[in-house]
Amino acid sequence: MTFDLIIRNANLPDGSTGLDIGCRDGKIAAVERRLKADAGEEIDAGGKLVSPPFIDIHFHMDATLSLGNPRLNETGTLLEGIQLWSEKRPTLTHDDVADRALRYCDLAVAQGLLAVRSHVDVTASHMIGVEALLDVRERVKPYLDLQLVAFPQDGYFRRPEIAANLERALDMGVDVVGGIPHFERTMEDGRRSVTALCEIAAERGLPVDLHCDETDDPMSRHIETLAYETQRLGLQGRVAGSHLTSMHSMDNYYASKLLPLIAEAGIHCIPNPIANIVLQGRHDTYPKRRGMMRVPEMMALGINVAYGQDSVLDPWYSLGNADMLDVASMAVHVGHMTSLAAMRASFDAVTVNAAKAFGLDGYGLAPGCNADFVLLEARDPVEAIRLRPARLAVVRRGRVISRSAPRSARLDLAGRPGIVEPWLYAPKLPN
Ligand SMILES: [Zn+2]
Repeated sequence: MTFDLIIRNANLPDGSTGLDIGCRDGKIAAVERRLKADAGEEIDAGGKLVSPPFIDIHFHMDATLSLGNPRLNETGTLLEGIQLWSEKRPTLTHDDVADRALRYCDLAVAQGLLAVRSHVDVTASHMIGVEALLDVRERVKPYLDLQLVAFPQDGYFRRPEIAANLERALDMGVDVVGGIPHFERTMEDGRRSVTALCEIAAERGLPVDLHCDETDDPMSRHIETLAYETQRLGLQGRVAGSHLTSMHSMDNYYASKLLPLIAEAGIHCIPNPIANIVLQGRHDTYPKRRGMMRVPEMMALGINVAYGQDSVLDPWYSLGNADMLDVASMAVHVGHMTSLAAMRASFDAVTVNAAKAFGLDGYGLAPGCNADFVLLEARDPVEAIRLRPARLAVVRRGRVISRSAPRSARLDLAGRPGIVEPWLYAPKLPN
């Protein structure tokens, strides 16, 4: 039997080891020990981890790589970020947005990040960002799944033309309905926006993903309305609540009522731990709140939690590297999720959980799935989060589309080894 590509002796995220993965015609055709077959190319994984590709379920590709243009965010707040973006918005051109997005996708592919859900601002009637990212979505399709959310950054009800712009973006082919209820003028406008946006999604048969309660105000409770509207309109499984940072500050009694409502409605919940650890708590003195939703408690209730990156080198975040393991690492630290089970769950939150929220078909490492995966220079998911290791090979539809050199250092120390390979250092832990 002949394959296009075989990866030999791989560990998988579920803890299985010593497996060969055979790919043919863009699909995974076999996953077994000592696969007796030839291939156009063979890669020896040597006991390292093969994972399905990383997915970023919350990003802003129209703003990425624009850091410093027109200026830097001096206060570091969400509100100055929104102000800064409104200064940038009139200067956008198709080529500027498309070039930055394509460059970002190069970086993403090199990190094994092969699916991105990006919000695209629909505030301005010129629709330049929408047109540019629709163009980019087609151009990257062979190597990266880009899903777009129509996002009224300044609020759905803030100006009369914004509702029409959102519908135009959906008519043009944007995939998901977005919103920002906590940024409407009043709580009541916020509530009405959740209802209106969910009704648009129900009518058009589209998913919903709202920036929801991204504030330290514990009384910001639009997620409650989102759960209600999801049930009322029968949208279970198609709705996501992004950020939900007010949940961090909520009264515990109210949270104990809210979380089961979210579970019952089947809402995907999307914390953005890197963005919100720096954006939230900015109005606090001490102690400073963390601004992350209650991830361990939500996972315990069976809520699907997927982590997003939100921003890279833009008005809201001046660092970032398209590395979803950085995001998982931040979640582990911010959420006190340091047990082995919680760290593994955080790896799932940037892979399989995100695929579920995204609605990606053919995702995974079973025979019949798309031959999309990444070979990491680490032996398991916990080590991957610890090391944020080299992506030795990134495979899309059975073809290696990115390769990185292993990480090693040459030591010049008498009586010590000549080479340090960081992935070989962790003690082996019991399962
Ligand atoms: Zn966002």
